[in-house]
Amino acid sequence: MKRRHFLRRLGSGVLVAGSTIAAGCKQENPAEQNTAAATAKFEPVKWKMVTTWPKNFPGLGTGANFLAERIMQMSGGRIQIKVYGAKELVPAFEVFSAVSQGTAELGHGSAYYWKGKSEAAQFFSAVPFGLTADEMNAWLYHGGGMELWQETYQPFGLVPMAAGNTGVQMAGWFNREINSVEDLQGLKMRIPGLGGEVLSRAGGTPVSLPGGELFTSLQSGAIDATEWVGPYNDLAFGFYKAAKYYYYPGWHEPGTTLECMVNKAAFDGLPDDLQAIVLSAARVANQDMLTEYIARNNQALRTLVDEHHVEVRKLPDSVLDRLRELSDQVVTEIAAKDALSQRVHASFQAFRDQVVQWSDISARAYLNARGAA
Ligand code: CA
Repeated sequence: MKRRHFLRRLGSGVLVAGSTIAAGCKQENPAEQNTAAATAKFEPVKWKMVTTWPKNFPGLGTGANFLAERIMQMSGGRIQIKVYGAKELVPAFEVFSAVSQGTAELGHGSAYYWKGKSEAAQFFSAVPFGLTADEMNAWLYHGGGMELWQETYQPFGLVPMAAGNTGVQMAGWFNREINSVEDLQGLKMRIPGLGGEVLSRAGGTPVSLPGGELFTSLQSGAIDATEWVGPYNDLAFGFYKAAKYYYYPGWHEPGTTLECMVNKAAFDGLPDDLQAIVLSAARVANQDMLTEYIARNNQALRTLVDEHHVEVRKLPDSVLDRLRELSDQVVTEIAAKDALSQRVHASFQAFRDQVVQWSDISARAYLNARGAA
């Protein structure tokens, strides 16, 4: 404790003084000296994290909390973060601008919400018939994806990080049987983003509705179908009481990445060790959310089937084939919108073309060999 006070008094000379002291006092714990030195030269920062989720929303909102807690813990309290749910400080869809402008230092959301800012952003959350969670993380961390994401957010003064993943979602809840491509005609379905565009080209009518309105819209017949996330989140919303069929797979969101963005000026103001802590905490949160979804989805699926007698169905191959064709068109068109989107699409597509061959003889072959029993 005495040492800490001494270091504080040294002010800007702390690093030189710290190393001199370290050399002279070998019985001291070096980790404590480092913390003492860092505390001395760096007053704790107080950051706000705004999110696109309702406060504490299972999986997504709790994932944001998890990240904030890890950063605070790993930094020994040198970074303090207060997490705000959607609308508490800014509305959900103003998170990007709020962090860009410095109203908050951190934001938690998903990149496809920001296509109005940059078309290329959509490649960093979910692409219909795109990458799975594992493949997406491989592209981001080891395939050039993260560098492109940083380049995409750089003009907005933001540093992006992957900070969670839902894994493969479900195709959704339907009150209409889907036996052929024709059954998509006139289908009124809540499905946002690129998936919605694909449904529209297949003859359906995509509807955009916030999560809180989905149950009543489905129950009243205002919509024929809705997608949301997967069994864990869908069970909580009670969709099984309002729809007959639960279709899979989530072709439109095969491994949706959630993001944390940091205001670049705030990030650049951190010393190197705290920058590393923020980046590393995001990696931990990214993995933790995926494993939570896998664990909870499988419990919730059992509840839906065993207790609520939900009829789980696979979309017919003919329907998936048609949706895949249309998805390729839609995704290729984004690439034509601007030079950055073109480069991001090229990188994403090249990685996808390559990884499918490995995934085919590794994950898919193993799952087929293991069987469904
Ligand atoms: Ca979804």
